[in-house]
Amino acid sequence: MVYCSTRDHTVSVSAAQAIARGISPDGGLYLPKSLPKLDIVRLRALLETDYRARACDILGDFLPDFGAGELRECVEAAYGDNFASDKITPLSKLSPNAYMLELWHGPTAAFKDLALQLLPHLLTRSAKKTIGEKTVNILVATSGDTGKAALEGFKDVPGTNILVFYPEQGVSRVQKLQMSTQAGGNVGVCGVYGNFDDTQTAVKQIFTDPQMAVKLDTRDAIFSSANSINWGRLAPQIVYYVSAYCEMVNGGEIELGDSVNVAVPTGNFGNILAAYYAKLMGLPIGRLICASNQNNVLTDFIRTGIYDKRRDFHMTSSPSMDILISSNLERLLYNLSEDDRLVADLMGRLSREGVYELPAPLNDKLKADFYGGFCTEAETAAAIKHTFDEYNYLCDTHTAVALKVYRDYAKETGDSTKTIVASTASPFKFAGSILAALTGKNSGEDEFKQLRALAEITGIVPPVNITELEGKSPRFAQTCAKEEMPGVVAQMLGL
Ligand SMILES: *Cc1c(COP(=O)(O)O)cnc(C)c1O
Repeated sequence: MVYCSTRDHTVSVSAAQAIARGISPDGGLYLPKSLPKLDIVRLRALLETDYRARACDILGDFLPDFGAGELRECVEAAYGDNFASDKITPLSKLSPNAYMLELWHGPTAAFKDLALQLLPHLLTRSAKKTIGEKTVNILVATSGDTGKAALEGFKDVPGTNILVFYPEQGVSRVQKLQMSTQAGGNVGVCGVYGNFDDTQTAVKQIFTDPQMAVKLDTRDAIFSSANSINWGRLAPQIVYYVSAYCEMVNGGEIELGDSVNVAVPTGNFGNILAAYYAKLMGLPIGRLICASNQNNVLTDFIRTGIYDKRRDFHMTSSPSMDILISSNLERLLYNLSEDDRLVADLMGRLSREGVYELPAPLNDKLKADFYGGFCTEAETAAAIKHTFDEYNYLCDTHTAVALKVYRDYAKETGDSTKTIVASTASPFKFAGSILAALTGKNSGEDEFKQLRALAEITGIVPPVNITELEGKSPRFAQTCAKEEMPGVVAQMLGL
């Protein structure tokens, strides 16, 4: 299998090259030139296996330059006791037609663990195959969830260091503690006085700083990134849709071959794109329901074909979806059009003018596969309360957005196809918002008090990974101005 760039289809690199490089030099994203096929015979064989075997099977096609034994080692290291469920991504039936695909039983209680527990193994081996035995230094700018998931994934992985910068005033107490108490001999964490954009801009400058490059080179090291445009983060996400389908067949909820819909709370368009790839491969998926919060740029795009980021940015109770530029959408544009020139042109327009329009036939094609909808803050809170009162199921703020849009879709279309709803975070990661949604009042208390109150009201035990944070003292208390970040990187890496 070869990979090309969304902006140049003549590019031809291996999977290991695509993962080691992260982004194509032309600015495009790597994607496979053709997708492997997942027919009923192959699905039937997967029914009898577990998550790890399904991962090896699906990923094997995407990573032909990894040997089967090698891939199995990576998969076993990624999906084991570090997940609180031996199903890894258990499926929980909510209502006659809705099934919650719980993607938050990993070490950081959010769905990013599914990719970031595996990526370090794929990335270090890919680097070894393509650039030799160099140390890979991962730099991450995070607004909260990605940083912790990347730290957990890369901690003590031989041949890597990982440094995470977060906005000192811009993350929750739980998120800050998750990062500042991080274990591992190859990790570093630093708060930055500035917002997320400042932090991300400074990280990008460090990546391209020529002096830094020289210093790294003398140490036989490189910088790399763990952000969500890396193919190595996307491919592992295809697996859980296939696995959820198998679970539905095994549980007698559907017959092999029946179609299901998928509803996904969407920000950077990575998670839902993985479901789309599963559909293109042959997994029987009908509609893909793309759910946004108040930052509803994708809803408008799916409905009108016009992508317009020139709008107010809203801070919401589902912060991991507060995003106006969904980077992975570029891959969808390529798959829809198979026209690299068009993609390069549209992406150029987006960066110059902040807006582009899809040709009408492509918008029709998009709407055939995708339904777009959004959810306001009040509707998010109402969905959390409704879901708990009606079904005794506690969902987080992001998942509530997906449930609300799924219900809108079912009502609007009358489509009663069974639907897999991606449940992307533990509700205890956002205890304050959930508690306020259930009780109708904002307690304004300490986050751990809110967490205990939520546990008490609902009778649900919060993940140990979160509760155990309360008594821990931080290992990392360093903060810096954004101008000081290169110095901090040099100091932490001993450059
Ligand atoms: C990152 C994230 C999302 C959005 O996923 P995308 O792949 O960026 O669309 C949704 N929910 C949670 C909890 C997340 O952390």
